[in-house]
Amino acid sequence: MQRQLVEILACPLCKAPLTLAVTREDATEVLEGSLTCTACAEVYPIIEGIPNLLPPDLRRAMEQEATRGGGH
Ligand SMILES: [Zn+2]
Repeated sequence: MQRQLVEILACPLCKAPLTLAVTREDATEVLEGSLTCTACAEVYPIIEGIPNLLPPDLRRAMEQEATRGGGH
C-alpha cells in the first residue's frame, strides 16, 4: 500500500484514524508493517503490501480456519 493511504483509512471498529508503522518498504509502497488505531489501539497487519482491515474477531476466526485445515 502507498504511505498516503493511511490518511484515508480508518479503524473498522471505531472509525478513528490509524498510525502507520513500517517494517519493510520499497521505493513506492509499504510492503510490511502495521496500522494501529489511535482510539482503541487495535493493530491491523500489512502483509505483502495489503492492509488487513478486517475487524479483529473476523480476522482471528479466519486465521483459526487457516491453521485448522490440512490435517493429513
Ligand atoms: Zn479503533
